[in-house]
Amino acid sequence: MTVNDTPGDGMDRELTLMAVHAHPDDEVIGTGGILAKYTAEGIRTVLVTCTNGEQGDGPGGVKPGEPGHDDAAVAERRLAELRESVAHLGIDHVELLGYRDSGMDGWDGNGHADAFANVPVETAAARLAELMERYRPQVIVTYDENGNYGHPDHIQAHRIAVAAAEKTGIPDKFYYTAVPREAIRQMFEFMRANGMAPDFELPDDFGTPDELISSVVDVSPYVENKLKALQAHASQGENIPFLRMPPEAQHQAFSREYFIRTTSRVAAPDQEDDLFAGLR
Ligand SMILES: [Zn+2]
Repeated sequence: MTVNDTPGDGMDRELTLMAVHAHPDDEVIGTGGILAKYTAEGIRTVLVTCTNGEQGDGPGGVKPGEPGHDDAAVAERRLAELRESVAHLGIDHVELLGYRDSGMDGWDGNGHADAFANVPVETAAARLAELMERYRPQVIVTYDENGNYGHPDHIQAHRIAVAAAEKTGIPDKFYYTAVPREAIRQMFEFMRANGMAPDFELPDDFGTPDELISSVVDVSPYVENKLKALQAHASQGENIPFLRMPPEAQHQAFSREYFIRTTSRVAAPDQEDDLFAGLR
């Protein structure tokens, strides 16, 4: 039984998952497992990457604004890495919105007129809405209103995904990725117990309180795919601490993905282990 309020629409069309991300490499840690798993289950998967990642590291770890950082070359490299990552995850369709990476909060790149974070929400949301009309995803995943960690492009990705979903009315279920507070705390404990002191202290309020998490998906069969996908983003390796963790810690960190369901127009359990619960 369903309580779909658009009868004949949500249940008849090809099952489709759309993940809306800010930069090349964001697709892996929080959603690489569900993208690989749902693809393997025959569900169509669509990754939307909003920026080209120009504000990433250049060759040899050159940071944006430093001599030798070439935005165009960084973008080209990162989009090539994205294609490799997508191949490891098996994602069916990749859609690039092609906006300019705004850089982290406070960076010079924030002021660039073309930076994604400076594009009017309705302008970028209209482009994303076209993709929603084309693929008609029942399930959409993006970041929470803080972009999960405050990056201006992640916040903007959240805003345009919410606006496009509202405008089109297409998704039956809408999710934010979550960083589970308790699992992160356990991972840090594990690392300390294994002599790997993380280089920062976790604030008590780090991550998503566990009681807000509605959906936990077991993606343990796809840990290797995620790892290979993450390794594909080699040019950003310095910024990806997961790559330097021992295999046990990687397995622990990668085998589940966590979400907050904000909307469901179909009947699904309050606590679910499948984002397509109620849709198949
Ligand atoms: Zn990002």
